[in-house]
Amino acid sequence: MARILVIEDEQDLGSLLEYNLKADGHQTEVARTGAAAIARYRAFKPDLVLLDLMLPDISGSEVARLIREGESRRVPIIMVTARGEETDRVKGLELGADDYVVKPFSVKELLLRVRNVLRRQGDGAAEAATQGAVSSSGEIMLDRERHEVKVGGRAIVLTALEFRLLKTFLERPGRVQTRETLLSDVWGIDAEITTRTVDTHIKRLREKLGSAGNVIETIRGVGYKLVS
Ligand code: CA
Repeated sequence: MARILVIEDEQDLGSLLEYNLKADGHQTEVARTGAAAIARYRAFKPDLVLLDLMLPDISGSEVARLIREGESRRVPIIMVTARGEETDRVKGLELGADDYVVKPFSVKELLLRVRNVLRRQGDGAAEAATQGAVSSSGEIMLDRERHEVKVGGRAIVLTALEFRLLKTFLERPGRVQTRETLLSDVWGIDAEITTRTVDTHIKRLREKLGSAGNVIETIRGVGYKLVS
């Protein structure tokens, strides 16, 4: 049972989602513009946001940025895009969306994504409680609870994806992670995204970590490994 804010300007789709999410036991509210969404977000304090990328006033990616800005609590976002909005989708994932669905989608698929994202969120909290909130390797320190990464005591800004990628490496030191494993464990989806995506994100993550990024070693033809 979660509080879900649906941001969707197509009235029929908004009502359909609201109906089904409620039927699935969630408390649901719908906002039809970006401006309304920001206001509802603050008042409703949702546990999860379903965000349409094409809104009549502000773009969905801008809404995501505004929601994330200056927030300590990290609320998961599922992006909803129309087919062909490839760049927006990638931008969305980089802005910290936790998952995305492409229109037209089945309600069943969407409900499944919602459950997965909520479960992942719950696992993260449980993990932090049992294992302690902090993982580290060399100069790198990752705080699961505060969603914070520091290198040599200095905070660095990672996207949600880069954070999950680094967390995965820190939890599996010395073990080779194939691109396929990373795709399924970090991205949680297999459709449309290629293994090249993994390489691109590893490259960016290494750049952000600076010289400390050398702990992530390339295993040629196989994948990557955290050396400790
Ligand atoms: Ca729309």
